[in-house]
Amino acid sequence: MINSALQNTYDTVLTRNPGEPEFHQAAKEVFESLETLQDRHPEYAANGILMRLCEPERQLIFRVPWVDDAGTVQINRGFRVEYNSALGPFKGGLRFHPSVNLGIVKFLGFEQIFKNSLTGLPIGGGKGGADFDPRGRSDGEVMRFCQSFMSELYRHMGEYTDVPAGDIGVGAREIGYLFGQYKRLTNRYEAGVLTGKGLDWGGSLVRTEATGYGAAIFADEMLKARGSSFDGRRVGVSGSGNVAIYSIEKAKQLGGIPVTASDSGGYVVDENGIDLELLQQIKEVERGRIHEYAERRGGDARYVKGGSLWDVPVDIALPSATQNELDADAARTLVSNGVEAVSEGANMPCTPEAVEIFRGAGVAFGPGKAANAGGVATSALEMQQNACRDTWSFEYTEGRLTEIMKNIHITCLETAEDVGRPGDYVVGANVAGFRRVADAMIA
Ligand code: GLU
Repeated sequence: MINSALQNTYDTVLTRNPGEPEFHQAAKEVFESLETLQDRHPEYAANGILMRLCEPERQLIFRVPWVDDAGTVQINRGFRVEYNSALGPFKGGLRFHPSVNLGIVKFLGFEQIFKNSLTGLPIGGGKGGADFDPRGRSDGEVMRFCQSFMSELYRHMGEYTDVPAGDIGVGAREIGYLFGQYKRLTNRYEAGVLTGKGLDWGGSLVRTEATGYGAAIFADEMLKARGSSFDGRRVGVSGSGNVAIYSIEKAKQLGGIPVTASDSGGYVVDENGIDLELLQQIKEVERGRIHEYAERRGGDARYVKGGSLWDVPVDIALPSATQNELDADAARTLVSNGVEAVSEGANMPCTPEAVEIFRGAGVAFGPGKAANAGGVATSALEMQQNACRDTWSFEYTEGRLTEIMKNIHITCLETAEDVGRPGDYVVGANVAGFRRVADAMIA
């Protein structure tokens, strides 16, 4: 798949980063896409751009000690990978989940470089997090953890340096604890140092909805490009966090019928369409589990413990849970059930084999770095509001988000066409995202 110069660089990346399969997977996809540039850009090779891109500018690993409710000292590991600042300050979320390790943070940070570039906004790429599991922890425990995490991270942050936000396990509550500790340590109300803040203290309208809205808008653009639409179509959504909930809301607004949601225990199918209010009550207010949805909704709604949500026949799939959640078997099932478009709300939720199956079957496939860029794009809009001490209306902010998603879609299509891979959004996203960063690095 890769020519020999690219292969040599990729081999070096593998050797230098052992034991990081998710990072290798993300890098390989970009390398494969860049082959379409062939020899059209000798300046990239001459400047060793790819090797420079693959090596983070700075990688931080730190101890996070905190005291649980029983009075026991707990130790977690914190990470921040400041990947690339060619286009702006490092920008990207923090993930708190037991699966977090350096390789995961590097894969996410690497993706973030290209995603942020695709938004057209002045933001570099970074990612961070900790192997802390907020599930089952009290508010006090989460607060003490966040304060300890920030006691180390604050010295590396700044509105012109590195601007974290949320990701899995980090929502408005955690951003509040983190921001409070940053403010206390620095004695500065530096609103633009974190995004995803509450609306009363520097947050932006639409930021909560942005990733999910964006993924559905991207799907809509792909459908429209082939003369199709969401109208009356069944939509499969995985996950039940912030991305899933607002993908469901936007898919409904666009005329679709979202019929699924899930968590790590199983999934629900609701043939009448997911009741958004009930889902929000269970997940956002009560922090409950998805099986409660089926119990409380009654009627045709059913809960399936374990199993694959992708067995449910749908026309449009919005995988919005986590990396590699949709494998080759799931992709084959979706294709045989006639899926028309897949738009990744999560980061890298489809395995490379699944992506190949979608491509081979002519399914419109929107890769995460394009399809879920609405979240970070709206974070950049939050930074703009913070910089001019302003607050924008919901309508205006949503208008900006929609315009950005449409631009990303058209950029991917035009770039794919330009490099001889018409309709290939993966190649389009990787090449377009890469070019802007690479040109800035050379300059
Ligand atoms: N965690 C989100 C992402 O994967 C958002 C990052 C941000 O807003 O900085 O893009």
